[in-house]
Amino acid sequence: MDDIDVIVVGAGAVGCSTASHLAKAGRRVVVLEKESGPGLHQSGRNSGVIHAGYNVKPNTVKARFCVEGNRELRSYCAARGIAVHPGGILVVARDDPEETVLAELARRAEGNGVAIELLGPAEIRQHEPNATGTAALWAKEAMSFDARGYVHALVGDAVGAGASFLFDRRVERIDAGKNGVVVHTDKDAVRGRVVVNAAGLYADRLARAHDLRVIPFRGYYAELVPARRDLVRSHIYAAPDLNFPFLGVHLSRRTDGRVIVGPGAMWAFGREAYSFWSLRGGGLVRAVTWPGFWRMMIKPEFRRLIRSEVAKSLSLKAIADEARRLVPELRSGDLVRSFAGNRAQLVARDGSLVEDIVVRATGDAIHVLNVVSPGLTCSLPFGRYLADLASDRL
Ligand SMILES: Cc1cc2nc3c(=O)[nH]c(=O)nc-3n(C[C@H](O)[C@H](O)[C@H](O)COP(=O)(O)OP(=O)(O)OC[C@H]3O[C@@H](n4cnc5c(N)ncnc54)[C@H](O)[C@@H]3O)c2cc1C
Repeated sequence: MDDIDVIVVGAGAVGCSTASHLAKAGRRVVVLEKESGPGLHQSGRNSGVIHAGYNVKPNTVKARFCVEGNRELRSYCAARGIAVHPGGILVVARDDPEETVLAELARRAEGNGVAIELLGPAEIRQHEPNATGTAALWAKEAMSFDARGYVHALVGDAVGAGASFLFDRRVERIDAGKNGVVVHTDKDAVRGRVVVNAAGLYADRLARAHDLRVIPFRGYYAELVPARRDLVRSHIYAAPDLNFPFLGVHLSRRTDGRVIVGPGAMWAFGREAYSFWSLRGGGLVRAVTWPGFWRMMIKPEFRRLIRSEVAKSLSLKAIADEARRLVPELRSGDLVRSFAGNRAQLVARDGSLVEDIVVRATGDAIHVLNVVSPGLTCSLPFGRYLADLASDRL
């Protein structure tokens, strides 16, 4: 253990991709993960979409890695036999204000060099016979993929190149000094030359970030009962509310044939709380004692969001009502509850929701924060970038 080059904290897509790139470059890498396996939080609880990059603001970290990541991830899935369901995303507008949102997304797509088409009502039906809207944006390079299979493939790559994974190791503190780092876990202390903190929902705590805090937002999904899955061919997205960094409700066909409806964006009372009243994962006190939390909460648009999210969290009918605006034939009885995943959303002291990925490199520690959607899509080139950043410090 004494000759470790890089310690990676967290075996999600970002940590595993970073470890794989480092190991392939000949670095001695150890990944510390608190769970008994990889990809059990954000990277295994998501929509499973390889995003095209039309919705991210140009010239951001997310834009750069999403567009590169889309190409790389599609090739990786093909090479590694990871299941995909091609078919593209249709973002549907239902009135004039939503058409304005589509125009903004089209501008972002152009800025990011992403191929899209703008469609009228008849063309919407050609792509998705059960969808309805006044206009739509069509991004053909988006598709579903098996996100868990992907994370396991990354672990295989990393281990094959010599990396070690230590599961059931919760990192409690990182001490980064001039001559390397000591990572304290609940079982032992691990020494290395550089640490990459890719701890997702806990990355802010390990980074001891004083100006930013993770406030977890739960994305809860319903899914169509098997007999109604043919309502959706591929992906039907609502035009998002651009006040928030969330993508809004969508109906998505997964690689296993299930069609999920969601995700919501409800403030979660615990970092790993995957149901409404759960406090799992802690963090409630840290959230409500954060000045940014109350500054966020008093914003009228935020209070509106929470009101509608509470309703949708508790009632399948509320989800069905929203989804029916995209697919009018959908009925409440067509839905059953499915899974949930929490976003590691950073909130700043002024109450604003941070939009872009934040990388903080101090001495021998690299902290990776706010890897929210489309973080999976970004993860191959982003992991390579983090591996290079870590290697530069050796
Ligand atoms: C509802 C939802 C839908 C999404 N949909 C998409 C999508 O369709 N497409 C897309 O591209 N992106 C999507 N995303 C975003 C994507 O899932 C994330 O950006 C990505 O998975 C982040 O990966 P990560 O490795 O940073 O975090 P995680 O996957 O959360 O991994 C962090 C790991 O660190 C471990 N850990 C935490 N604390 C410690 C500690 N103290 N010690 C040791 N280990 C620790 C955790 O157990 C976990 O395994 C979605 C996210 C959510 C929540």
